[in-house]
Amino acid sequence: MNVVIVGAGPAGLITALNLLQRGIKPLILEKSPEIRATACGEALGLRWINEVPFDSSPYIAKRVRGAKLIFPGGSVDHIDKECAVLDRTKWLRGMAEEVERGGELRLNSEVIAVTRDSIRLKNGENIGYQVLIGADGPHSRLAQYLGMKYNFVTASQYKIACNTSAMDFLEFYFDKRFSYGYAWIFPKDGVINVGTGGDFAHLDAFLKYKGLDSHQIIKREAGIIPASGIGKLVQRNIALIGDAASMPNPTGLSGLSPIIQASQILARNINSLEDYETEVKNHPMANSILLKGGHILMNLSNQDLANIGKFFAGVKKSEGRAPKIRKIVKYPSLLLKLNRLRTVYKAGVIAMGYGW
Ligand SMILES: Cc1cc2nc3c(=O)[nH]c(=O)nc-3n(C[C@H](O)[C@H](O)[C@H](O)COP(=O)(O)OP(=O)(O)OC[C@H]3O[C@@H](n4cnc5c(N)ncnc54)[C@H](O)[C@@H]3O)c2cc1C
Repeated sequence: MNVVIVGAGPAGLITALNLLQRGIKPLILEKSPEIRATACGEALGLRWINEVPFDSSPYIAKRVRGAKLIFPGGSVDHIDKECAVLDRTKWLRGMAEEVERGGELRLNSEVIAVTRDSIRLKNGENIGYQVLIGADGPHSRLAQYLGMKYNFVTASQYKIACNTSAMDFLEFYFDKRFSYGYAWIFPKDGVINVGTGGDFAHLDAFLKYKGLDSHQIIKREAGIIPASGIGKLVQRNIALIGDAASMPNPTGLSGLSPIIQASQILARNINSLEDYETEVKNHPMANSILLKGGHILMNLSNQDLANIGKFFAGVKKSEGRAPKIRKIVKYPSLLLKLNRLRTVYKAGVIAMGYGW
């Protein structure tokens, strides 16, 4: 079968690896002259990395015990689930080499037009396909061709030189002074990724708050993250995956774990793409609560977030419903928003289940 994949980011490469496992040798077309990572915090639940049919362990810059959720006022909630922070450019290059052993990868190959059975490259060449996979990221030409329109969140990040030997957790700061959603600090090997769902003014304020403003900034990067939830994935013999399909979790904005799971589903259903769409739509990653939870989270005030932090600090995870309700009564502003907070909580539970 003649399968063409547009884009050699995580979605394109991991899909290609899954196809190769099934004996299908795809052609990947990448517009850039080299394989390189887009802006990314590079964090991912360890169990998902192990689902990629490739040995990713040499590309893990640091393993951490889990995540700390930090709220205004300083309350901290812990999530104990092992995560990894990758060296993403090296990881992509490692996977690209593996793909080239079985399939074909062409750099400097920008797809500029799509028809029912062929694509045209910028150099004028036409390439035919039986199945076309759009893994061409948030600015996807293939998603445009299929008529998809997404909303985006802007995210900004610095890579900063820092001793990370004592850093054991990913840190998420839910604080409107520094982000629309959350800011993060993810430790690597002698470097931290410090970023925000926001602009560089948010990020500079966060750096100052954390006392990191005197550290050496190694790299300044920004990107957009589709946050519309998963829409149409398939039309005829064309399928979308990754950011091209608005797959990042709209509550947490992580994009890598949905890619790993969707690429397995896509490879399994390469001969019946409608089944790919149906399976993904039935997967937790397509649950509409995630989108609702994301909207509510974005609109909570710092006062609400501080109260949520205090509430979580005061309850044990194992506690039943009644003691939790008794404790939330202490925060009348939260009580008024109980239904919305339940939605955020459910979204968080779903996101943790499939995303970490
Ligand atoms: C600042 C920031 C931090 C993030 N942090 C995290 C995180 O810590 N963890 C996490 O899970 N997710 C994170 N994400 C989201 C994650 O990075 C994305 O979901 C992921 O990169 C999507 O992969 P992709 O392969 O779909 O798209 P991309 O990584 O964008 O790759 C698309 C590829 O297609 C190529 N391409 C585009 N158009 C064409 C064309 N016309 N022809 C040929 N090639 C083309 C591009 O050059 C690129 O190589 C973050 C995003 C941002 C912006």
